[in-house]
Amino acid sequence: MNRITLEGKLLFATVIVAFLTLILTASALIPTYESYRSTNDNLLAVERFRQVLEAASRMSAERGPANDIMAIEPNSSAPATERLKVFRRISDLSLEALDEPPEVDVSSSLPDLQAALAETRAQLRRARQTVDRVAATPLADRDPDDVQNAIREMIEVIETFQHVVDWHIAAFTTQRSELTAPFLTGRMISDMREYGGRAASQIMGPIATRQPLRDSHITDASRTIGRLLELRKLMQGQKIVSDRDALSQQLMKDVDTIFFGSGLELVKILIEQGKISGDYSVSAVDLTRDYVPTLQPLERLRTVFLDDVVKRYRTQHYAASYRLAVIAVITASALAVLFTLFRSIRLHMLGPLLTARRQIIALADGSPVTDLETISKAPEMRSLFEALELLRGKLDERAEYEARLKMQAEKDGLTGVWNRRALEGFGNAPSERGEDVCLMLIDIDHFKAVNDNYGHLTGDAVLIEIATLLQGAMRSTDIVARYGGEEFAVLVSTSDLSNTLDFAEELRSRIQAHVIRDAETGIDLSITVSIGVTSGACGASGWRQLIASADEALYCAKKKGRNRTCVFGDEADRDIVKSALIPFRARRAASL
Ligand code: GH3
Ligand code: MG
Ligand code: MG
Repeated sequence: MNRITLEGKLLFATVIVAFLTLILTASALIPTYESYRSTNDNLLAVERFRQVLEAASRMSAERGPANDIMAIEPNSSAPATERLKVFRRISDLSLEALDEPPEVDVSSSLPDLQAALAETRAQLRRARQTVDRVAATPLADRDPDDVQNAIREMIEVIETFQHVVDWHIAAFTTQRSELTAPFLTGRMISDMREYGGRAASQIMGPIATRQPLRDSHITDASRTIGRLLELRKLMQGQKIVSDRDALSQQLMKDVDTIFFGSGLELVKILIEQGKISGDYSVSAVDLTRDYVPTLQPLERLRTVFLDDVVKRYRTQHYAASYRLAVIAVITASALAVLFTLFRSIRLHMLGPLLTARRQIIALADGSPVTDLETISKAPEMRSLFEALELLRGKLDERAEYEARLKMQAEKDGLTGVWNRRALEGFGNAPSERGEDVCLMLIDIDHFKAVNDNYGHLTGDAVLIEIATLLQGAMRSTDIVARYGGEEFAVLVSTSDLSNTLDFAEELRSRIQAHVIRDAETGIDLSITVSIGVTSGACGASGWRQLIASADEALYCAKKKGRNRTCVFGDEADRDIVKSALIPFRARRAASL
């Protein structure tokens, strides 16, 4: 696990959290989606059922104008004919609407529905033909049985259509038991409307032809009235409109007073009259005119009930849709926040951390560090880079300090040229490309006398002047060092001894020619030097030898009278070297 990068771990954690969020969401989303789907199906089912009951109601309503034209002379009233036409058209349209199969999955077979609809249409066509035939017969020749027969056929249409209603109840409630109660109540209300219309229709024939009622009329009408009273009993106590008791009670009250109280009472009176004679207190047309409005509360009951059911399911469906949308939005937001966080950590933390790592390595290596402040905008990261900036400052300070220490350790405090330690360092290091170098040892002649005659400060000033002169005459690759008291060494990066000898001579001449004024007395001092020159290899083994031979050459120069240059190994100087080199060395070692 330690080998996995922080970014890898972060990505892993983000994916896991996203996955868990999705699982959590799914556990809430699936039931919500199920409820969204089922409420949608319920809504579609109740809307469809409303259409079915609407069609039944339209076909029931068609009986009113049909009865009317069967109660008048053929073609005697254009408005009545026109009204029947309109009602028939409305019935046809409401039936046509049912040709479209329901939008919901249904458990019953669609061909059964189509067959039931076709049967209803056939029955309706037959009934209408019968109505038209009866209406075309002059009133005087019209047999009440024919009229009654036509009315019965129209009633048959509704009976046939009942299969369509039943098909829908079965199709929708088998899998959705919660729909059973509203569908059965809806059907009950619809039946009430149908029987309400039927009660008057069943005695319409004899009334239209002013004949007394036969037993069959009385039986039919009484049965219908009996069913109506039964339905009323069933309906009592039913809550028609959910959560609105007052409206439910008002609707039932209207049904009671207007339909049962006046409409049905009128039918009952007419039945009583028809039992005695054909002398009815109202004509068929008047009966239609007075009776049909009393069916209004039944129509209204049906409309309000079905509207309420649709509204209830629509509300449930909207609530489910809302829940679904809320869950989807919350999930999307949670995931968006998660990925933004991941991206932000990656961009503003991990990226800068990697940069900081590179910068720290660069600082450790002493390589240049780039643009530390502009790296991150996050305050925590900014403070990290500020700390790095501080570290860089401290490291710079330390490097400067070390450089100064190094300088102090390797430079001569009085003259500013390299000191002997530094010279030893250069000399003990093998020369570049292994080539030989030349070494000069330069000693000021009778320097003690300068000190003695003009003072130590003047002596110091002379040392500084000589060092400056030497330094000014060097190439960048040559090294000037103060080897000891009044003695300088020059390491020349060439193996050419003869050239170096010339160079040494030139230096000696320049020093001799250079006048140094004593600041105290104003006297011009003339300084000479003796120089010993040699060549050889640098490095641990060669350096001692190189110094020794330069030293020997310097001794010769002193011995030969000073203010001159001698080269090591000169045959002419052999005797001088032999005679007194050892005591010379001892004396020099003591003075250095
Ligand atoms: P020679 O020609 O044989 O070299 O004679 P010399 O007098 O130059 O040599 P000697 O070794 O006798 O004297 C060197 C003197 O240099 C002795 C010492 O006091 C002096 N000296 C050494 N270091 C310094 C210094 O830093 N400043 C001053 N002013 N004098 C120094
Ligand atoms: Mg000396
Ligand atoms: Mg000297």
